[in-house]
Parts: sequence; C-alpha cells; structure tokens
Amino acid sequence: MLISLIVPCYNEEASLPILYEALCDVRKTDDANRNYEFIFVNDGSRDKTAEIIKSFAAEDKAVKYVFFSRNFGKEAAMYAGMQKAKGDYIAILDADMQDPPSLIPQMIKDLDSGEYDIVAARRVTRKGEPKIRSFFARRFYRLINRMCDVEIADGARDFRLMRRAVVDAILSLTERQRFSKGIFAWVGFRTKWVEHENVERVAGETKWSFWKLFKYAIDGIVAFTTAPLRIATYTGFFFAIAGFVYMLYYFIKAIISRIWDTVAGYPSLLCFILFIGGLVLMCLGILGEYIGRIYIESKGRPIYIPSEESED
Ligand code: UDP
Ligand code: MG
Repeated sequence: MLISLIVPCYNEEASLPILYEALCDVRKTDDANRNYEFIFVNDGSRDKTAEIIKSFAAEDKAVKYVFFSRNFGKEAAMYAGMQKAKGDYIAILDADMQDPPSLIPQMIKDLDSGEYDIVAARRVTRKGEPKIRSFFARRFYRLINRMCDVEIADGARDFRLMRRAVVDAILSLTERQRFSKGIFAWVGFRTKWVEHENVERVAGETKWSFWKLFKYAIDGIVAFTTAPLRIATYTGFFFAIAGFVYMLYYFIKAIISRIWDTVAGYPSLLCFILFIGGLVLMCLGILGEYIGRIYIESKGRPIYIPSEESED
C-alpha cells in the first residue's frame, strides 16, 4: 500500500522545512507501516524552494519532485503531482501548513473503512482572513451553486485524500483552464467531509491577491456553467419585449392625441441608448469569455512544462 502526498510549492522556502518535518511525522507514526511518497511540485519559485526540495530528495528516497519551467499556477501543479503519483491513496496539501498534515492518519482510516472514496477537508471558519475577502467568498459560493449543476462546497479546500480511481478520473479531465473545486465536485464519488478551523499559514504570505481571486471566481463560473449566456438571452428577450410595448404605447398615444412630431425627450433617449449599449457590450463580454476559453482550449497546449523531474 503506497500513499502519495502531493505538495504544490510556489516560493515556500520558509514553510517547506516545517511541512517536511510534519510529513515525516505522519510517516513515522503510521501504525500499518504503509509506504509513502512525497511529491513536491515546484511551480516556478523564485526563491530557494528548488534547492530545499533537492536537499530533501538527496536524503530521502520517498521524496519525488517535478519542477516547472515557470509559474503555471496551483491548478497545474496539482495536475502534475497527480500525474506523478503512484499511490493507492493520493492526497494534495498546501505547503504552508494550512492543510494540517496531522489530519492525514484519520483520513487514511476513513478510506480504509471502504465507505468513502474521498475524504476532503473543509474549513468551517474563516478566522484570520480579511473580512471583505470572506464576504465575497461566501457570495461567490452562493452564486456559483445557484448556477451550476454540481454542488461546490463553501470552505472546501483542495486538501483531500482520494482513491486511485478518483485521481484517474480527475486526470482524464484534461482542460487547460482548471478550476479544481469544480472538477472535484464534477467527478463525483462518495465524499466524506472533515471539518476544521481555519489555520493561518506558518510562514511567507498568500499568493492570492483580491484581484487574482476575483478572476479565479469568474474562471470557475465560466468553466462550470453556461448560465451567464442564458442570463444574457433572457435579458435581451426582456428588453425586446419592453421596447415593443413602449413602441405600441407611443404609437397609440400619437394616434389618439394626433401629435406626430415630438422632439422632447432627448435626455431619456440618451439614457436608454447608454443603458442598452452597456447591456449589449456586457452580453458581448460574456460571450467573449466563453469564446476566449474555446480559443485557449483549441490550441491544445500542455497544462505545464516540466524543466526537471526526479527519477521514478
Ligand atoms: N501555489 C502554487 N502556485 C501558485 C500559487 C500557489 O503552487 O501560483 C501553492 C502554494 O505554494 C501553496 C498553495 O498553492 O502550497 C496555496 O497557496 P496559498 O497559501 O498562497 O493560498 P491560500 O492558502 O492563501 O488560499
Ligand atoms: Mg495558504
């Protein structure tokens, strides 16, 4: 029985030694003497992350690694890790200790029981996170769940332990614009949620700016639902009807009052033109989001480019 632990790392020189220590603890305290492999994916870090990973690998055969030629993002890093993983159970966890490795032994037991295929962590609090960020995060989950067919859990992290079959299913989704929260939900399987309090990162700082998160949210929506397109259709339909009713109203009014040449109403006209013009541009924008994604997918570029890999 082999257990693969995948760690995507981007500028994590400060947290890595702490994390590695914790992973070794998990391995040491394993009561069933299972085998472990630690897969570090260096996502184009600019600090000493690469050297640190290599120093682990030099001393520990269980350490495997993939280095990227540049920063491809956490989604790509997770994908690469899963491709490299050979384990029967495979877990993904952050380098910053926000995904407590101490939960792993219990997660393994849960999978052993055979009732579940995935044990996934979910934080029930967002303590230590900027208020405004939590607020928008909550809104985002409400919105995406109303629009999508699959249920994307609020507070769900990428931290999870999966059976081989689940990982194979995830790897079979080869889209370039990966929104893992959606992908995890989409592939299904029996999931057990373990809840934990939010843990703040041990060192370094988060790579997510508010703007990055916002773009990520849009990506998630566009990747998992075409509902915005339908909203555009409905809005267009609504305004066409409204315009038609308005036209009828003026037509009848003109016939009854016998006044044909009205010139007044310049401001209202301008408002309508701007409003409708804005709406049209917005709908074009929505369309553009989808077409842009078709364009990127159609190029069929690889999800990441490795520059260096440990031998198997
Ligand atoms: N990460 C990555 N590539 C990136 C950004 C982040 O591999 O472009 C990794 C990072 O090293 C960490 C995990 O993804 O292990 C989560 O990142 P972070 O802690 O910055 O996100 P947060 O926990 O704040 O959501
Ligand atoms: Mg973090």
